[in-house]
This record gives sequence, structure tokens and C-alpha cells, in this order.
Amino acid sequence: MRRKTILNLWLLIILVASIIWFSSLGSAQTRNTSPGRQPLKIFISVDMEGIWGVVHGNQCSSNSPEYQVARKWMVEDVNAVIQGLFEAGATEVVVNDSHGSMRNIVASELDRRATLISGSPKPLSMMEGIDSSFQGCIFVGYHARAGSAPAILDHTISGAAVYAIKINGQEMPELGINAAIAGYFKVPVIMLTGDTETCRQAQEILGQELVTVPVKDAVGRLASKNFPREKVLSDLREGAKKALALASSSRLFVLKAPYKFELEFHTSQQAEPGMLIPGVRRISPRALAFESRDYLEGFKLMRALISLASVS
Ligand SMILES: [Zn+2]
Repeated sequence: MRRKTILNLWLLIILVASIIWFSSLGSAQTRNTSPGRQPLKIFISVDMEGIWGVVHGNQCSSNSPEYQVARKWMVEDVNAVIQGLFEAGATEVVVNDSHGSMRNIVASELDRRATLISGSPKPLSMMEGIDSSFQGCIFVGYHARAGSAPAILDHTISGAAVYAIKINGQEMPELGINAAIAGYFKVPVIMLTGDTETCRQAQEILGQELVTVPVKDAVGRLASKNFPREKVLSDLREGAKKALALASSSRLFVLKAPYKFELEFHTSQQAEPGMLIPGVRRISPRALAFESRDYLEGFKLMRALISLASVS
């Protein structure tokens, strides 16, 4: 009789423990599969020439009095995108300041939910901070490649040194060079903002389905029609929401190895110092070429050649 009571007691304890274990298992599974709890990380690279209102190099140069107001427009454009992203369910946003000194955004003015990568030099430059943990990449304030018209402040990496950059035979704006870095990490570019010509180049290279938000329409290299500010900020918010909704189906921009880089400079003198580097060939008086099996290594060598050209 006593042994039977003890046995029943043990059975009761096992039953209660099982119920607690199963119910805790159930809630843990629910937590893990809840879509609201999944990390949704977005990387933003922000340049300045394609920011609303910017039409002249003085507005992008810290030694000009016009710069102080342009850097405010820059953070306003980015904050509108960040607001849209968080409203649409993003859990983390990392912003990489990508223009000039890369200290344009005043840290305390950025949306307080976002992380800011500020300053330079950085190994991946405009793409510093990206890795495979992100679900999408956004380019804000980007500009058209050198030799575009009409397009505000068209250039490729260095207006003073670079005439053109080709990768695997295709002439590339910064948006294409950087999109291939995102692709290297299996992160799709989901949105771009800039002038109408930059948006056109982005869709030409990355696909017509890419979400683009034109903020101005160039009438020359140093003049543009800026769209109404209220509408632009609303378009940036709504564009970010749409881009996030489409992120999982966005296509990757992945170039094929080996990567053939060709750099044409403005002068033959700018090409000369690069010839000292093993593997770099001179293919014309002003142009250098090399191949790389790894895209990031090729990207870094390309940056080094542009740095050498800039001090030659
Ligand atoms: Zn720039």
C-alpha cells in the first residue's frame, strides 16, 4: 500500500515535469519561428554627390562654408531611409559614411537606432562594415560614373585621377564596383538613391526591378532640378519599406572570377607608379590592367593603384 502510494507520487511528478518541459519547448519554438524576432540587418553606404540639393563640389568639401548645410541634407536623406526600414521591420541598420573624409554625418544627428561607421581610411572604403550577416544593402546619395551627362558631379572614385574603370570588360560606376562587394558577401543591393541618371545606371547594371528613388534631375554637371523636399523625404521612406519587402527575392550581383580590372587614368604620368607592382601591366600609355582570383583582393589593389596615381 505504501509502495503503491510512492509509485503514484513518482508518476505524478514525472507527469507534471513532462507537462512543464513540453510547454516550455512549445514556447521556445514559437519564439524562434516568430517572424518579428528574426534579425533583419540592413547595410547603408552613403555618398554625398547624389544627396538632394547638392549640385556643386563646394557643397561636398569641408573647407567650404556651403558644406555645413549640405551635410544636414545628407543626414536627412539617410534618416528618412532608416525610418522607413525600421517601420517595415528592420532590426538593425548600419550606416557607413562613404564620402571624402567619411566624417560628414554628425554622429548625434543620425537616427538613434542606427550604428554609424565614421572616418577613414577603411579597408573596404565605401563598403566597410558589410558582411554576410546582412539581408540587404542600400546606396544613398550615389552619383553616376565618370563621363556621364547630364549627371551631377559624375566621377569614379577619384575625379582627379580616374578616367574610367572596367571590370570584366564592363565600365563601372562606384555603385557597380561596390555592389560586387555586397555580392561577394551574398548580400543583394535592394535600393539606390541619387539623381535620375544614377538611378538609370543602377537599374541597367543591377536589374530593372531594383528600387530607386531619384531625388533630383541634372540639367548639367553642376545644375539640377531638385524635386520638392517633402515628396523626396516621403519617397525615401516609402522606397525603403518597399525595398525591405522585396529583399528576400532581390538578386545578387556577382561577377565571374578571374576578375579582370582595367584602370584608365587622365595622364600617362598617373599610370607610371603602378607599373612597379608585380602582376600589373600597362595596356596603353594611360591604362593599367591586372587579374585577381579574389574580388576583394582585386578591389584593394585597384584602390592602391588609384592612391599611387593620385600622388604621382
Ligand atoms: Zn563622394
